[in-house]
Amino acid sequence: MRIVTFVKYVPDAAGDRTFESDNTVDRSVDGLLSELDEYAVEEALKITGGDKSAEVIALTVGGDDAKDAVKKALQMGATKGVHVNDDALDASDAIGTARVLAAALKQVAEDEGPIDLVLTGFASTDAGMSVVPTLVAELSGLPALTQVSQVTVSGTTVNARRDGDTSSQFLEAALPALVSVTDQTNEPRYPSFKGILGAKRKKIAEYDLSDLGVAASEVGRAGATTQVVEVAERPARTAGEIITDEGDGGTKLVEWLAAKKLV
Ligand SMILES: Cc1cc2nc3c(=O)[nH]c(=O)nc-3n(C[C@H](O)[C@H](O)[C@H](O)COP(=O)(O)OP(=O)(O)OC[C@H]3O[C@@H](n4cnc5c(N)ncnc54)[C@H](O)[C@@H]3O)c2cc1C
Repeated sequence: MRIVTFVKYVPDAAGDRTFESDNTVDRSVDGLLSELDEYAVEEALKITGGDKSAEVIALTVGGDDAKDAVKKALQMGATKGVHVNDDALDASDAIGTARVLAAALKQVAEDEGPIDLVLTGFASTDAGMSVVPTLVAELSGLPALTQVSQVTVSGTTVNARRDGDTSSQFLEAALPALVSVTDQTNEPRYPSFKGILGAKRKKIAEYDLSDLGVAASEVGRAGATTQVVEVAERPARTAGEIITDEGDGGTKLVEWLAAKKLV
């Protein structure tokens, strides 16, 4: 069993997040592995658990610091890493990023052998568009089971449960397939001391665009099909309104809610 997990490096939400003058995300700030991708790594480790011949390959597309996302996955227990890095990737949009991820999957299959399963987060914690997994599946000719909260692999089949507000869908696909998982899927492990030390010896393959046969014109600003035209800070919170109960608190509360069209 060979699983590739996508691991995106994102700005740390605990710090200040800002935009460049052209409305692109300022990526010069401290970053980390997108928390939602930890669920994909954990699921890969659960599926392959106990199988010494299995491989979990953590793949990132990003600048120099993005390697930290791969390192975290290796510390958790992934067996190998792949880092795609190229100056031309700067300001890539979702389609450009998906093109590169799909090309990287092809390269990994050539270098390491056939891939059975691709596991991803359902959204990044920065751009959060939730489209990259589906785009990659389309470009790679893989069935996509998206936003699932339970995954089971049995033989050459993957089953998954996708929970909606009022019902759950039970999905099945033949491997190889791509599955994006939610934060309900599992409880990601913390890297152990042994895991942290062991990760230093694990291999991280480096690719640039020419290694993957992707033209610079297809990615980055040059290949972007979308552009953010404006960004605005969320308005500051206004002071709350205190409703004093003088025997008519309930009525006042309902009137307030009705005025805001909340009931
Ligand atoms: C080198 C580079 C430079 C960029 N520069 C800019 C920029 O200047 N301005 C800007 O606004 N945006 C930039 N981007 C961000 C880019 O536009 C988004 O990463 C892209 O649109 C994906 O959208 P998303 O994060 O909303 O993905 P979603 O669809 O929300 O992501 C879902 C899942 O797809 C996987 N995934 C997504 N992206 C990656 C990745 N890069 N590597 C591995 N797995 C991934 C993860 O598993 C993630 O959980 C850059 C990206 C790269 C790689």
